[in-house]
Amino acid sequence: HVDHVEKIFGRKSENSFKALDGVSFDIYPGEFVGIMGPSGAGKTTLLNVVSTLDQATSGKIEIAGRDITMMKQNELADFRSAELGFIFQDFNLLENLTIYENIALPLSLQGVASKNIRPLVHQVADKLGIKSILGKYPVAVSGGQKQRAAAARALVHEPAIILADEPTGALDSKNARSLMETMEHLNRHHSVSIMLVTHDPLSASYCERILFIQDGTIYKEIRRTEDQAAF
Ligand code: ADP
Ligand code: ADP
Repeated sequence: HVDHVEKIFGRKSENSFKALDGVSFDIYPGEFVGIMGPSGAGKTTLLNVVSTLDQATSGKIEIAGRDITMMKQNELADFRSAELGFIFQDFNLLENLTIYENIALPLSLQGVASKNIRPLVHQVADKLGIKSILGKYPVAVSGGQKQRAAAARALVHEPAIILADEPTGALDSKNARSLMETMEHLNRHHSVSIMLVTHDPLSASYCERILFIQDGTIYKEIRRTEDQAAF
């Protein structure tokens, strides 16, 4: 629940820039929502304040019923590892950890005991068809397997919402489609909410609803209808 959020960069009025100008919207549990807009519109800024990586200047953001704008830094770190999943453009798999260890990361960061981590990693890896590569290092697996490992890591701790920033940006259309199908699967079968920032029409076609942003303001919203394959 994003309510009248403003983000102003810079302190002095002559240098300050309002990157988000009173943004309000809701993403409902299990909803797959895209954020689209031209370069400089405020998409990344919006994703950063929702993901708690940056602080809104004013306004309120609630995730899973908790107001993140009121939390202290240490509470935010705990909240992030419990309730948020991230999928980045370059996947950000840690090269010196196995695929297993990469997927386990959100759970190890929360201090979950390794004997409890194991079945959860195996379960999500099984669902995404990457059980056979758990012992391998990222360098030794294919691009498609890396994507699925990143998706598994975003999901393993059952976050309230997965936040994705241009996840298909560096992919050819075959791999882009496969990543979007994976995200659709997470969304449908695990009823995790997804907020996806993109300017790729293919990715956008997987969203149930798209919010269009320009000059820090949401100016349009489109909902996918059943007979509409793409926007
Ligand atoms: P998008 O992701 O839609 O391309 P951004 O959210 O990155 O847009 O940026 C929105 C606007 O805010 C841009 O005009 C950008 O120059 C400005 N901006 C982003 N980060 C900063 C910053 N740290 N300091 C000053 N201006 C910034
Ligand atoms: P490979 O099949 O590539 O040879 P390994 O035999 O080394 O892989 O490892 C496969 C198994 O080891 C997987 O079932 C995986 O769950 C487990 N595994 C890999 N790394 C770890 C780890 N750090 N902690 C626990 N189990 C791990």
